[in-house]
Order: sequence, then structure tokens, then C-alpha cells
Amino acid sequence: MDDVVIVGGGVGGTVTANLLAEELAPEIAASKVRIRLITDRPEHIYKPAFLYAAFGRTAPRAYRRPQRELLHPAVELVVDPVNRIDAGQRQVIGESGKSYDYSYLVVAAGARVVPQRTPGLAEAGEQFYTEEGAQRLYKKLQDFTGGTVVVSVIGVPHMCPVAPLEMAFMLDAFFRERGRRDQVELVYTYPINRVHSNPAIAAWAAPELAARGIRTETFFNVERIDPQRKVIETIEGTTLAFDLLIGIPEHEAPPFLEASGLTDAGWVPTDRHTLQVKGHDRIYALGDVTDLPVSKAGSVAHYQANVVAQNLAARLRGRPALARYNGKTFCFIETGADKATYVEFDYENPPQPVPASRWIHWAKLAYNQTYWMTARGVV
Ligand SMILES: Cc1cc2nc3c(=O)[nH]c(=O)nc-3n(C[C@H](O)[C@H](O)[C@H](O)COP(=O)(O)OP(=O)(O)OC[C@H]3O[C@@H](n4cnc5c(N)ncnc54)[C@H](O)[C@@H]3O)c2cc1C
Repeated sequence: MDDVVIVGGGVGGTVTANLLAEELAPEIAASKVRIRLITDRPEHIYKPAFLYAAFGRTAPRAYRRPQRELLHPAVELVVDPVNRIDAGQRQVIGESGKSYDYSYLVVAAGARVVPQRTPGLAEAGEQFYTEEGAQRLYKKLQDFTGGTVVVSVIGVPHMCPVAPLEMAFMLDAFFRERGRRDQVELVYTYPINRVHSNPAIAAWAAPELAARGIRTETFFNVERIDPQRKVIETIEGTTLAFDLLIGIPEHEAPPFLEASGLTDAGWVPTDRHTLQVKGHDRIYALGDVTDLPVSKAGSVAHYQANVVAQNLAARLRGRPALARYNGKTFCFIETGADKATYVEFDYENPPQPVPASRWIHWAKLAYNQTYWMTARGVV
């Protein structure tokens, strides 16, 4: 029997497992193939909701579901945090001490934030990249009466590259709706010489930020934060005082991947088209763990899951693996005041944001609901 092991019960792992189970139903029924999804918690969390949670616009029951409910019945679910992958022995070793053999492995373990890498950030900064962070920020925003709010992109790459811009736009709208905008100075900072790593998105976003009176600081590389004085110090030698800091922390792939010798500079080296881990014919990586020059976005993980599932099904049937990932990315961008735009791009074609509208905002909210079908591989 061939064992396909998928590590990670986020969007990438879940979609891969479901597509494979659907496609390989005859082989699974004949006990020729087994599909196991190994994850570290019994619940599936829809991370994009954290942006809305920071403004009190969603509740945990809307962004959490039991992982089992989202999986095809033929997928075996194992909740056992992975400690190590032994690529030589083709085994995944869990915290329980159990080991799981694989014929093919899919690594879809996502990214995590590491605020402790920036001195002072954990003590003095807020963030919305975790559930706890978003809930804490919600309380801070409710109590905030006035002063300087800084949205600072500290670590790049990070999940959802447009989310800090969305946060800045939504903060502007939030304070306007409450009649407090003139008591708040909004500042957005970015480490390179433009407001976003993608030149086309930066060119679109810079005038949008200016039109809302959001001050921008570029070439702004945060070195440390002084929690007592509430001041950000940069590598460039500048300082910026704040009353509320929303810092996007550095990110990394889960540590067990480095311990398994599967990372380079923090991420899993992955072929940009086949999604095989470089040097490992039987291991695939997708979603946020990879080192690919694409957005760490759920849409990317989903498109990549299609490619990996097609190629795995082909290989398990002894056929050539022909599917290729072309860099396809789709992102909605909330622009505040219940409007949004979107971008769609790939390795060859740059993004071109369309004019923001209420329709696109409602489409994003509708997507947040239909996500649960998407994860099942239905749409
Ligand atoms: C605030 C915010 C807003 C976002 N907005 C958007 C958006 O609008 N659109 C969009 O497309 N994307 C958005 N994203 C990004 C999106 O959530 C991620 O890109 C997506 O979840 C990546 O999917 P993944 O499967 O690679 O990883 P994840 O969904 O993070 O899943 C990783 C899985 O691996 C599991 N895992 C981790 N360590 C272990 C271990 N040791 N053993 C076993 N399992 C483990 C985790 O528990 C999790 O189940 C946003 C993210 C954030 C934080």
C-alpha cells in the first residue's frame, strides 16, 4: 500500500487531502493507497478572519471548525504535532513518539510569527496575525482615545502581504466612523523604498494612503522598540514615537522543519513549478512554508494544492506528473468604509488593482463564508 502523508491541517493541507481522496477513491477503496493528514490541533482556523476580529467584525465561532468536519471521509486524521521528518527513512515522527511511514509526503505546515526576534516588540507592540493578537488589538482599539498609531511592517516575507495595508485603511475608516480621526495620527512603515514589496501594488497603494492622510515612512527597518519611551528605533538611525504600535512580526516556518534539515534561511526550498522540495523527489511543499517568490496567501496554497494533488495522483498511478504551478495568486484588498479591490497575478503577469467598490467588499465577506466549502475542495 502507498502512504501519502500530509503535514498541516490548514488550507493547503486540507484541500490537498480532499482532492486526493476524491480522485483516488477507487485506489483507497481497494486498500492500495492511504491518505493521512497529520496536524497539531483538532480545530481548523481560518486565519484571514483575524483582520476582522481586530475590529470586532467576526467571532471565533465563524472562523473555527473541527478539522474532521472539513475532511473527506476517506482521509485519516491524526492529531499529533510533528517533531521531525526523517527523509532518509521516509518517516514523520510525532510528539507522541509514533512514527508515520510515507511513500509521498506533502509539507503544508504554514508559517508562524516570531515577535521575540525584535527586541521590545512582544512587550510594546500589538499585532493581528494570531487569534490572541487580534483579540488583544480589538480591546486596545476600543479604548484608544487619540495619539499616534503606527502600522509597521517589520518582518518580510509575512502572511498575506496586503494585510498591513488593509489594516491601515480600515483604521482610517474606524476612527472616521467614530468621529476621532482628527485626534489620531496614522503612520504606515515599510522596510524598502516603497510601501509594498510588489511594485504594482506599491504604486497603487501610495496615493491611496496619502488620500486618507496616512503618513508613510519607507526604508524603515525596525531594529528595536523601547517599551518605556514607546519609541521605535531603526537600523537607518531614525526614531518614531507611538501611542499604539501594530507591528507585523518576523515570520518563520515551524521549527521542526529546520530540525529535519528541510529549510534554508528559514523556509523550505521548493521548485517553483513542480512544488517538489529541492533534492527530495518524494516530498512536496506548498503554502506558507515554501521559499517561493509568491504571496503567503490562502489562495496560493489552494492553487498549489491542485497541482500537488494532480501530480501525486498521476505518480501513484504510474503516470507522468505534468501539472505545473504558474505563480497564480488572488487577493482581495479591503480599503476601508466597506469597500475593497482585488488583484490577480502570476509569475509572468503583474497585479493591476481595479477601482475599489462595495461589491468587491461584499464578495470578500461572501468568500469568508464559502471558505468552508472551498477547504472541502468543493469550489
Ligand atoms: C491576518 C491575516 C489575514 C490574511 N488574509 C488573507 C486573505 O485575505 N487572503 C488570503 O488568501 N490569505 C490570507 N492570509 C494568509 C493565509 O491565511 C495563509 O497564507 C494560509 O493559511 C496558508 O495556508 P497553509 O496551508 O500554508 O498554512 P496554514 O493555513 O497556516 O496551515 C498550517 C497548518 O499546519 C499546522 N501545523 C503547524 N505546525 C505543525 C506541526 N508541528 N505538526 C503538525 N501540524 C502543524 C497548523 O496547525 C495548521 O493547521 C491571511 C493571514 C493572516 C494572518
